[in-house]
Amino acid sequence: MTVNDATRGTADDRRPGGTGARLARERLEQERHARTAELAVLESRGDLRSDEAALTRFDTLRKTLEEVEAALARLDAGTYGICEGCNEPIPEGRLEILPYARFCVRCQQRRR
Ligand SMILES: [Zn+2]
Repeated sequence: MTVNDATRGTADDRRPGGTGARLARERLEQERHARTAELAVLESRGDLRSDEAALTRFDTLRKTLEEVEAALARLDAGTYGICEGCNEPIPEGRLEILPYARFCVRCQQRRR
């Protein structure tokens, strides 16, 4: 194994306890932390009903947090990083950008 493999993780070690699973968990927890903080800022502004943009952002943040929680559950179940459309491993580069991705790019595009 090269140093690059060890730091980036591979599809094989995304299983619970693997290097990839640990990296994925760190990314997801960072994501959860950032979104939760942003949500708290929005909530602290009080009544958002008159602010359409803030409301939209609020909904997006809540959905993202749900996705993050679901991804953490998949990590525990050992199914993290597997496309729900074609059952192929989702490329590591995509998971770096979107750690809670459920689909590979091809299947995601097909769903639109
Ligand atoms: Zn797919």
